[in-house]
Amino acid sequence: MSRTPHTIVNAGYRSTNYWVVSAGRSRLLVDLGWPGMMGAMRASLDRLGVPIAELRYGMATHYHPDHAGLAQEMKLLGVPLLVLESQVGAIPLLKQWTKPQDRFTEITLHDNVTISFAESRALLARIGLAGEILPTPGHSDDSVSLLLDDGAVFTGDLTPVALAGEAERDAVSASWRLLRQRGATRVYPGHGPMRWMDAASEDG
Ligand SMILES: [Zn+2]
Repeated sequence: MSRTPHTIVNAGYRSTNYWVVSAGRSRLLVDLGWPGMMGAMRASLDRLGVPIAELRYGMATHYHPDHAGLAQEMKLLGVPLLVLESQVGAIPLLKQWTKPQDRFTEITLHDNVTISFAESRALLARIGLAGEILPTPGHSDDSVSLLLDDGAVFTGDLTPVALAGEAERDAVSASWRLLRQRGATRVYPGHGPMRWMDAASEDG
């Protein structure tokens, strides 16, 4: 079976990665900017030659300010917000992590594209991407990872096992184990460069 080739570029700024995964001009933005910094996001996307109109969905690996800060602004620009079932309850809590000077725009709940993990493969296929979205709690309960069938996985802030605190270690280990079982080989984290699964000994 032939697979649609995809490309991965980073529209990141301020030490955080915002990955644009593209099948031709059909694109998915993984993680959605710092609050109040749409100018920086636009500049990054412009530099990469990625028109916002080509973003079919935006998704946050989890609802912390550096990963979902521009979710609502992106929606207002026509980029639907893809929400996984385990994330719905976390969205209203995001505001508590922000200060007024952050200029965070609250995320409305009624107009998102909310799906189950089981539905993710079909949704991704419709935008030309072969893969799935998996629950990978540990850093937070609402953390998810996008795993492409070629082994690329977008993990947000899923903590390397060696760095995990006592309270999160079991969940973090289980999440890395799941990703490895499902074929993950290359980790595209929310911060720092791409790394190989083995090199980081994520499964401790
Ligand atoms: Zn986080």
